[in-house]
Amino acid sequence: MILKLSSVGEFGLIDILNKDMIFSPESVIAGIGDDTAVLKSPAANWQLFTTDMMLEGIHFRLDWSSYYQVGYKALAVNISDIAAMGGRPTHAVVSVGIPDTVQIENIEELYQGIRDIARRFKINLVGGDTVKSPEKLIINIALLGEVAAGKAIYRSGARPGDIIYTTGNLGKSAAGLYILAHTKELELTSEVKERLILAHTLPEPRVDTGWLLSGLEGVSALDDNSDGLAAELREICRASSVGCLIWEKELPVLAEVKKLAGEQGDVVLDWVMDGGEDYELIFTVRPDHRGTVEQSLNHAGISFSSIGVITAQVNELKIKRINGSEEKINSSGYNHFK
Ligand code: ADP
Ligand code: MG
Repeated sequence: MILKLSSVGEFGLIDILNKDMIFSPESVIAGIGDDTAVLKSPAANWQLFTTDMMLEGIHFRLDWSSYYQVGYKALAVNISDIAAMGGRPTHAVVSVGIPDTVQIENIEELYQGIRDIARRFKINLVGGDTVKSPEKLIINIALLGEVAAGKAIYRSGARPGDIIYTTGNLGKSAAGLYILAHTKELELTSEVKERLILAHTLPEPRVDTGWLLSGLEGVSALDDNSDGLAAELREICRASSVGCLIWEKELPVLAEVKKLAGEQGDVVLDWVMDGGEDYELIFTVRPDHRGTVEQSLNHAGISFSSIGVITAQVNELKIKRINGSEEKINSSGYNHFK
């Protein structure tokens, strides 16, 4: 049976969705059902607070992502912002604008995606808002987090000589998006396709890494890679009044991503620099703390690569290509108002 939203109404829908929403009950005094949630403040920690909105047609397409994946990713990208301060997430509110054409089952599936990642990161879903949208699905999540007092890591702390690192692999989300757009022509095995598409549709926020980095000496700047390496480096350089030199040969790119790009270095570089949505952490480390930071990351089993160095040339982003030449990085990543 297909249940129309109009048959249950806003409150009926909220009742359907609001089951199994609390995964860390000790800090929730009152959750969903009143005018606001009531939360216990962490006494010693600092609070982090962020929000990110996703619009159908701009941030996701319902023919490329399931409702489950849209919900999961909407929370994942917010979690990634908390990780990028060195924090961990605590409480979320979820607002949805739902067009008439969407079925209740679809929204339940969207919430299942939210719920599954919330459970993994012990995030409480303590409220939200539900409205009708004229045409497209809209989802906005606001997320609270916490970080030990004085331990937040900003974009502004990089200094010339600091080493630049990234976690994981880059360009995989752009590769997944490319596969979604060209799926008929591609001859990759379905397992490889599936893996790259999942990197795009179900990104993994790096909370453990961010939390670990916030406790280490010598980590000077931290950011998450949502808009592409070029855009994130530009943010760190601008905030820190520095420049950077990236070493192309050190960029961590999966072999299957290189293969998909047809071994053309420039396509791979586009995906890494401009593709975005890899949700890895980019961070800088004082050179005299390199050893201890790398040791801690290795000890925790976290994959990372040193990909460049911070320079004194303010806002000058350069890359040393594999052939030895140095070029300016002109790409800027995804920017909504360009
Ligand atoms: P108000 O009129 O006070 O804003 P609402 O009727 O919008 O109250 O919401 C009632 C309760 O349901 C509140 O606790 C609100 O946080 C929660 N809520 C509403 N929409 C959602 C949603 N999409 N997801 C989770 N909780 C929601
Ligand atoms: Mg409301």
